[in-house]
Amino acid sequence: MDLFDVAQDLHFGEVHLKHDPTTGLRAIVAVHDLTLGPAIGGCRLFDYPDSDAAIHDALRLARGMSYKAAISNLPHGGGKAVIMKPPNFEELDRSALFAAFGEFVDSLGGCYITCEDVGTRVEDMDAVRSETDQVLGYDPDDGSSGDPSPFTAFGVRRGIEAAVKFQWDRDDLDGIHVAIQGVGSVGYHLAEELHELGATLTVTDINEAVVQKCVDKFGATSVESNAIFDVDCDVFAPCALGSPINDDTLPRLQCDVIAGAANNQLAQNRHGVELRERDIVYVPDYAINAGGLINVAQEFRGYDAQTARRKTAAIYDTVLQILERSERENLPTNLVANRVVEERLYGSPLQ
Ligand code: NAD
Repeated sequence: MDLFDVAQDLHFGEVHLKHDPTTGLRAIVAVHDLTLGPAIGGCRLFDYPDSDAAIHDALRLARGMSYKAAISNLPHGGGKAVIMKPPNFEELDRSALFAAFGEFVDSLGGCYITCEDVGTRVEDMDAVRSETDQVLGYDPDDGSSGDPSPFTAFGVRRGIEAAVKFQWDRDDLDGIHVAIQGVGSVGYHLAEELHELGATLTVTDINEAVVQKCVDKFGATSVESNAIFDVDCDVFAPCALGSPINDDTLPRLQCDVIAGAANNQLAQNRHGVELRERDIVYVPDYAINAGGLINVAQEFRGYDAQTARRKTAAIYDTVLQILERSERENLPTNLVANRVVEERLYGSPLQ
């Protein structure tokens, strides 16, 4: 599909490209929307087959960031950078490459703020910071916010609390049975929080060691990874990868609520309609998993963990409002979340 047609479909925005022959940098910065403030979004380092694939990925991801920032009431638009990983990457000077990327970000005059993403790490952001102030998530010893996962997990917990309030009019999680798919960085922190609040846990992961840790520390029941979709539970919390809600898994679900950290939980938008038809309350992924973004965005205003936590706690209100509007307007929750964002960005929904 033609690039400008894709840009039109996704309501862009700007796309910037940079080639630096000295360091080998080939980078793309996609800036989706600046209505609410400077665009924010991570920098991904990935082995793309060609520049077309890299640009399309940047466009898709930047739009996702706009929606996540807007639904979270952040004063930011959405952006994303991708760096095409060259075949001889290991021979290159990594820190020079990221410094060159920092120069690129700086040349955009403050419309895009970068941070870590898949394939990049804190030291890379330190190198970026040598050339620009438009970077977050650098060395925590220098006042940055550090690991986002506990904040993401806290936000997911708040989203689960809101869904429990909506579904059962309850203000506590005592005895609520949550099945967690993936107990990695976010899923493990989530399990810990839920256990402390009296929830009953079933967990799965392809990493047996983390599953055993949840069994030992939180009294969780473990199941094989594919069996998590059949668990008769109150809340299913997808915290792994991929699109857990798809044609194969959806008919098997035995839960009343889906609320987890994973990105892109619905394989297709129509799965949101099918969940509603089955009376399963789906908490839109980009609304419930925004805690990490809310936390890192706080750095831009002088980091303070308490403020970041207070703002992350507000995911409860965001989620409750989406679920209540979905009920009122008889619309799937994923569509309602999109509408809330599009009303904020464009004055009216796009669909
Ligand atoms: P992670 O890699 O630390 O954890 C993912 C876990 O899922 C791993 O333990 C992995 O072994 C497990 N896993 C992978 N495939 C699985 C399968 N088929 N069945 C069971 N377990 C499986 O990642 P994370 O940082 O915890 O992120 C989890 C999800 O949340 C991802 O989708 C991520 O995009 C999303 N997310 C994370 C953050 C954050 O702050 N880390 C923020 C927003 C969204």
